[in-house]
Amino acid sequence: MGAFDRVCPVCGKTFEIKNIRQIYCSYKCGNKARYKPREKVLPQSHGTGNNTCLYCGAAFTATVYNKKFCCESCRRKFRYRENLEENRRKAREYYWNHKWR
Ligand SMILES: [Zn+2]
Ligand SMILES: [Zn+2]
Repeated sequence: MGAFDRVCPVCGKTFEIKNIRQIYCSYKCGNKARYKPREKVLPQSHGTGNNTCLYCGAAFTATVYNKKFCCESCRRKFRYRENLEENRRKAREYYWNHKWR
């Protein structure tokens, strides 16, 4: 048992590391560990999360990519609505700015 023995976090096997930065017993275990966190993030579920969709108000699970809306279509509709209001405001401003000429 030397100072260079380590327990692989993936398979639990004790192994001798060849360099100080080695964390896993093998390339295979390193790959497994790297792809594991992604699997947890990917499934997008409706209705079980503690975030609320800004557009339709539905509860959803926030992902790395989506923290405000339950789905892509809500995100788009929300943006679209925002743009409509912005355009209306601009039109009104334009009207007032040009009224007295
Ligand atoms: Zn391993
Ligand atoms: Zn929604």
